[in-house]
Amino acid sequence: MLRIGRSLYRHRWLLTRRTVQIAILLAFIVHIPSYGKIAEGNLSSSLWFGELKLTDPFILLQSFFAGSSIAMPALIGALIIGSFYAFFAGRLYCSWVCPINLLTDLAYWLRKKLNIKGNMSLSRSLRLWVLALALALSFLGGTLAWEMINPITRFQRELIWFSFSGAMLLGALFLFDLFVSRRAWCGHLCPVGAFYGLLGRYGRLKVTATPTEGCDSNGCSRCVAVCPEPHVLAPVVSKQTKSVTSGDCTRCGACLDECHEGSLSMKLDLVGMVTRKAGN
Ligand code: SF4
Ligand code: SF4
Repeated sequence: MLRIGRSLYRHRWLLTRRTVQIAILLAFIVHIPSYGKIAEGNLSSSLWFGELKLTDPFILLQSFFAGSSIAMPALIGALIIGSFYAFFAGRLYCSWVCPINLLTDLAYWLRKKLNIKGNMSLSRSLRLWVLALALALSFLGGTLAWEMINPITRFQRELIWFSFSGAMLLGALFLFDLFVSRRAWCGHLCPVGAFYGLLGRYGRLKVTATPTEGCDSNGCSRCVAVCPEPHVLAPVVSKQTKSVTSGDCTRCGACLDECHEGSLSMKLDLVGMVTRKAGN
């Protein structure tokens, strides 16, 4: 019993975020008798509890580039979502909401289990280029360019109506992550993750180091080894800074689960926000 409790504690961030991810997915799928679904639509555009309309701000940005007229409810929905991620952290979307993260985390886990070493090196800035291309194509084509292939909405559709073309795309993405390049999709290619990284660049929720004796003396770097974006932790581990400041951090909590010294925590840094404003 004690061992189970300890194991649950050591995976507390992973378990909590999987619960949140799955609950969000189920909200779109499960039909509650005499109520209906909690959420209608998909992550791009949804209606919660029959009242609250939410819009993915990246969709809104593509609509803007495509020259479409933007309806007020969509604008308000995007502002609600955008403000949340801008304030807390943009890539919370990646590790707590996006269903593709389930697939890419599975590919990474399998990659480690099968001891697959081959790794095609990709630049992390590629995703910014894909983001720029998606917006440029939206502008030139007058359409939501990324939405034609967006694996996030495809994955949601797959769960409701199986479609062969959607499954092919998701399968290709999974196999590429598994056999070709470590964390290729989310870490290097996805423009949605890039967009949320920029949006939450100054998000106040931060992984913060509280150096303990163990961490100071053994420098194990286990946190870096499990981090999906290892470059974000490097300045903290090398003690150049106390907290992770990069917008690439997904706030997944994997580093906190892995740090058995208790040297890392997730904190809301409101003081830093005030000092930044004063400095401006
Ligand atoms: S990088 Fe893209 S696909 Fe990956 S979790 Fe984030 S939004 Fe989803
Ligand atoms: S620093 Fe921690 S919370 Fe941020 S991405 Fe890496 S493992 Fe996740």
